[in-house]
Amino acid sequence: MLELLYPRKCCVCSDVLERDQEHICSACMEDFPYTYFWNWRDHPWEKALWGRCNFRFVCSLFYYSRDNDYSRLDKRIKYAGDLSLGRWLGVMLGEKMKILCEDVDYIVPVPVHPLRRWKRGYNQAEVIAKGIEKGVGRSSMLYNALYRRKNSVSQTLLDVNEKWNNVKGVFGLKRGAQEMLAGKHVLIVDDLLTTGATAQACFETLVQIPGITISFASLAAVRH
Ligand SMILES: [Zn+2]
Repeated sequence: MLELLYPRKCCVCSDVLERDQEHICSACMEDFPYTYFWNWRDHPWEKALWGRCNFRFVCSLFYYSRDNDYSRLDKRIKYAGDLSLGRWLGVMLGEKMKILCEDVDYIVPVPVHPLRRWKRGYNQAEVIAKGIEKGVGRSSMLYNALYRRKNSVSQTLLDVNEKWNNVKGVFGLKRGAQEMLAGKHVLIVDDLLTTGATAQACFETLVQIPGITISFASLAAVRH
């Protein structure tokens, strides 16, 4: 009955979904812009980040572009509170990364400032990380390894240098995280990879920990 009144719609093209479809219709699933980073070593994003931060691997589920409707997925998760979509895509990414994540010990979502989390009611990176944890099936989430020092302005309208200055030094290590993460492989999770500035800022905070290995995953990435 509810479905007749409020038909579920595809999060990409807004067509009405068939009963057996979840979030995205079959036509949009067929054209889904997968990155295939999970079976591609030394892909352009890994190369782009070499020298800046040496991640064991970098992995994203799909390409993000302002010119196509798949960018709506990120917006729905971040601004419209579609948490089930975030989790569902996270599971999908986790399943693709199963082999990559074989020796990952902890999944650490990129934190948002407590004020933003309070206003929004959730942290989108945390929602995605929960999905990844389920999809991978064995690593464990660590919500509180990092914290955000100040409420930096939204990254959306900044250029590359401004983005870096905006997040540089913004993440701190929570008490106890150093002991817990020493010698471990940690997967940082965010919703979107655009300039790598946030990924690098997290890396620089975590890399001080003795013996740590760091990787990075995001739902979407701009083409590099
Ligand atoms: Zn569609």
